[in-house]
Amino acid sequence: MACERPRELGPEFDVTVFDPSPWFEWLPNIHEPVSRAKRPADLRLPRKRLVAAAGHRFVREAVTVIDARRGTLATAGGTVHAFDFCIVAAGGVNATSGVRGVERHAMPFRSAEQCDAIGRRLAVLMKGASRDRSSSRVAALPASRRSGEILRRYRRRANLTLHIVEAGPALMPAASPKIEAAVRRHVRACDVRIHTGSAVAAISPTGVSLRGGGRLRSDLTIWTGGGVAPPLLHASRLAPKPLQWAPVDATLRSRRYHNVFVIGDAAALPVAVPKQAFHALEMGECAAANVRRAAAGRALRRYRPSRTPLLLAFGDLDTFLVAGRSVVASPALAAGKEAVFQVTMAQIDPPANVQALGQLASRVIGVTRRLASSR
Ligand SMILES: Cc1cc2nc3c(=O)[nH]c(=O)nc-3n(C[C@H](O)[C@H](O)[C@H](O)COP(=O)(O)OP(=O)(O)OC[C@H]3O[C@@H](n4cnc5c(N)ncnc54)[C@H](O)[C@@H]3O)c2cc1C
Repeated sequence: MACERPRELGPEFDVTVFDPSPWFEWLPNIHEPVSRAKRPADLRLPRKRLVAAAGHRFVREAVTVIDARRGTLATAGGTVHAFDFCIVAAGGVNATSGVRGVERHAMPFRSAEQCDAIGRRLAVLMKGASRDRSSSRVAALPASRRSGEILRRYRRRANLTLHIVEAGPALMPAASPKIEAAVRRHVRACDVRIHTGSAVAAISPTGVSLRGGGRLRSDLTIWTGGGVAPPLLHASRLAPKPLQWAPVDATLRSRRYHNVFVIGDAAALPVAVPKQAFHALEMGECAAANVRRAAAGRALRRYRPSRTPLLLAFGDLDTFLVAGRSVVASPALAAGKEAVFQVTMAQIDPPANVQALGQLASRVIGVTRRLASSR
């Protein structure tokens, strides 16, 4: 299900892709609708067409449980499908970390649609604040790197106060100190208030309560509290406990069931691999190759993660190229990030004819114009 590489298994395989979402979205860029630099349509591809182009079938439904012993899976629509092999790429779900009010009062940040909704709400708030000569207060929890997209559009406006709240001592726990220092330097000129070492206790319609006792007033609260394993993994006995990722061996085969491969964020490998988009794509290729090998009774291939450098953007203020421990920072690298995005989308959805090539070209030109005008 949800395999981003349906082409890896040829027409000799009868493949069905299950996903409740009609869109394939490239998550590393989904924050861009927050600043209106991109629209959701710029960031997604229709899954049905992608899967059909590979000669396979798409079923727009969530899988509720996989019964690997029987070789069946059940969908939310109540249908049961038989399989010889199942590749699970169910990703993660928003971690609420037990914080009260997250689901009711904070806006989530996990899809292009959700980021677009944040962008629209921000635009309404900022318009109202200009009219009333008041100020808009936004709390981003914990969304330090993502808040760069808010600053791309609104940093020159005097009526925005942005609170960034992070439970740990660093603004970006997983990032290098060089990135942390650069981000802190960039936000100095704006009304950005950083609250590190401040765990969130509860979120209400009007603000955020901190565990240490403080309270922040907020007109818009954004929650990006990381990901945890989806319920499907434990319900299908692929993970030993709820919220745990599914253990796999070095070939991406489930530790429990020989007919199930788990890839992407959902997989817990023997040696941890960062939960990043390129690793998910590579794992899709490896799992497809291993299904072919398993079907032919051949030995399985080990998954070897490549050392692809990471490009991390902080709005239009800075972009960081991270290769191991080395970090290069420059706003000019944004063009590189955009190129990676466009090339990846074109690889996943290669233009099949001149018309499709024209659509790709107009998407690139439209996006380039909007990015240039959002500066
Ligand atoms: C906000 C955000 C920003 C990120 N930024 C970066 C970045 O800059 N660089 C980077 O390398 N990585 C980034 N990542 C991480 C990267 O996007 C993930 O590692 C990658 O998307 C994992 O791919 P996946 O296929 O495992 O899961 P996902 O891309 O999450 O896809 C999972 C799919 O499974 C479907 N699904 C879920 N449950 C079911 C079910 N029960 N039945 C059927 N289908 C189901 C979902 O609808 C979804 O389509 C980011 C992630 C997020 C959330």
